Amino acid sequence: MAKLPVLEEEGRRFGCTQCGNCCVQPGYVFFGLEELKGMATHLGLSVIRFKQRYNVSWEAAERRYAIDATDGNGCPLLTEDRRCSVHEKKPVQCQTFPFWSEMMEGRAVWDEAKKFCPGLDAPKGRLYPMAELAEILRGDRGT
Ligand code: SF4
Ligand code: SF4
Repeated sequence: MAKLPVLEEEGRRFGCTQCGNCCVQPGYVFFGLEELKGMATHLGLSVIRFKQRYNVSWEAAERRYAIDATDGNGCPLLTEDRRCSVHEKKPVQCQTFPFWSEMMEGRAVWDEAKKFCPGLDAPKGRLYPMAELAEILRGDRGT
């Protein structure tokens, strides 16, 4: 389980604008086998075909599967109109953004992410109280 950071604030304010910017940030999309199966089924693909099409690798250090989107071209599961093609089955990693443990450790990473995510501290966003954030952080890893 991910280490839970100390949450010293009353919470974090967030309201997603559906801009899709987070899906084009360079990085890895990690997921477990059940999530992989769910995404493949959602797209009408076999697990093998899904792995081939999206160049899924097994990351031994993470003990999870991953899609490498570090080239700056964005996640290959993002559609041309910037929608997630597996939205209903997207990995927990994506479901829980921006409430990732590294985003909750102080303000620095959160504030840096405001360069691409207009939802962070959005005045019209919802205030997620500390207790709710702690629950999200406990379940921030998929199966
Ligand atoms: S970048 Fe932020 S506001 Fe835009 S889709 Fe992602 S979470 Fe939502
Ligand atoms: S799986 Fe969907 S939500 Fe997650 S990074 Fe890819 S396009 Fe974005």
